[in-house]
Amino acid sequence: MIECVFCRIAQHELDAQIVDEDPDFIAFHDAHPVAPVHLLLIPKRHVASLAEWTEVEPDLAGRWLLRARDLAARSGLAPSGYRLVINTGEWGGQTVAHLHLHLLAGRLLKWPPG
Ligand code: AMP
Ligand code: ZN
Repeated sequence: MIECVFCRIAQHELDAQIVDEDPDFIAFHDAHPVAPVHLLLIPKRHVASLAEWTEVEPDLAGRWLLRARDLAARSGLAPSGYRLVINTGEWGGQTVAHLHLHLLAGRLLKWPPG
């Protein structure tokens, strides 16, 4: 029994609205969207946070970022723009301890965040 919610989604043990998948990554709709488009893109292999992603294969992090870019483009978000966010640790607002990248779009996003 896997305890990590995002590991369970990655292994198709828990329902999610999956929008993109390859052997290393999976993307799905956030269950509590804070923007009209709110997707999460995660590495399938469990790692708790960006800070703890120490044993990362050299090109995996780069492919992750470019996959987020391509997902945004394929979703038609590039012309209007979007935001990628990686909350890390308690003060970074991280609530799920499996590394994830938020893709936010669909309205004007204010800066700085609260
Ligand atoms: P963070 O605060 O950066 O850790 O973001 C965690 C995100 O995961 C939040 O935006 C949650 O709404 C989202 N979330 C938590 N559980 C699920 C789930 N089972 N399916 C989809 N999104 C989830
Ligand atoms: Zn996990």
